[in-house]
Amino acid sequence: MSILQNAIDSIQIGVEDFQSTDQRRQVSALRNIVAGMLLLMKEKLCKLSPDHDKELLIKKEILPEQQADGTVVFKGKGKKTVDVLQIEERLSSLNVVVDWKRLNDITKLRNDLEHYYTDRSSDAVREIVAKSFLILRDFAVSALEEDPIELFGADCWSVLLETNDVYVAEEKACQTSIKKINWKYDTVEDALKELRCPSCHSSLIESTDENDVYPDVGLRCKSCNHEFQFDQVVEECISYLLSGVAHHAIKDGGDSPYGRCPHCFKETYVFEENCCVACENELEFTKCIRCEASLGFEDQFNVGLCGYCHYVYEKSMDD
Ligand SMILES: [Zn+2]
Ligand SMILES: [Zn+2]
Ligand SMILES: [Zn+2]
Repeated sequence: MSILQNAIDSIQIGVEDFQSTDQRRQVSALRNIVAGMLLLMKEKLCKLSPDHDKELLIKKEILPEQQADGTVVFKGKGKKTVDVLQIEERLSSLNVVVDWKRLNDITKLRNDLEHYYTDRSSDAVREIVAKSFLILRDFAVSALEEDPIELFGADCWSVLLETNDVYVAEEKACQTSIKKINWKYDTVEDALKELRCPSCHSSLIESTDENDVYPDVGLRCKSCNHEFQFDQVVEECISYLLSGVAHHAIKDGGDSPYGRCPHCFKETYVFEENCCVACENELEFTKCIRCEASLGFEDQFNVGLCGYCHYVYEKSMDD
């Protein structure tokens, strides 16, 4: 069977699983839809492969091989095929446009749900189905040049379409309620994209009272009705938003944009905001009084001086 037919089957079966009232089929819905989506991308990689091997670009390992006439061609090695990261690398480098952030959100959520699925997680499943719809639509139209209704069948497509419409409407209502709160810090406003219910993982979260004053904001999950305080999830939101940036910054020899607050011990001290976004405490010393270098946690014990100026100062006292 062709990869394309496999992809279509997988998505259709996933949509049937999703419609089933049997809770046990929800995780299977996810698996099938996400697998189908990745197969569609592999189909595109095959289409883009050179004529001498139409499966070259889906091979995990590709090696150059010299021909009898001296020319070099690439050959696939082994049976293993590309993983999600390689699909992204290869399609991006071949200028195929996909919303990778959305795809990564979907695969991350799928992994989370495989581990933590409970009977209250069905809305998170609905979220994945809704988010997949947009990727499937765009990929079918722009990368495969196919009509999604013809490709996936009218029944399957109408379920995806409707799920997306309902989800988008609810998401909008939640965002409107969240926006009524004054979140005070730009970083926090950004991090709210990562807001999820600690109980069921849904991202459909609304505020319980628009008069709440930051950071004491009450929240309610629209999927499972669980109520919680922003304080309970602030650390996770900041980590989701900034851990990737921090990883890159540290790799390049720079500083992490956030760290552990010396007052409340949460990892929510954001340097750009000059304070901890959970307890709102500031560092006592932020700039070196001698050379104006910005000061971090480790410099707080140097009476307002940076490490270097403190060293110079101590030396001058010795003389
Ligand atoms: Zn919930
Ligand atoms: Zn703090
Ligand atoms: Zn200094």
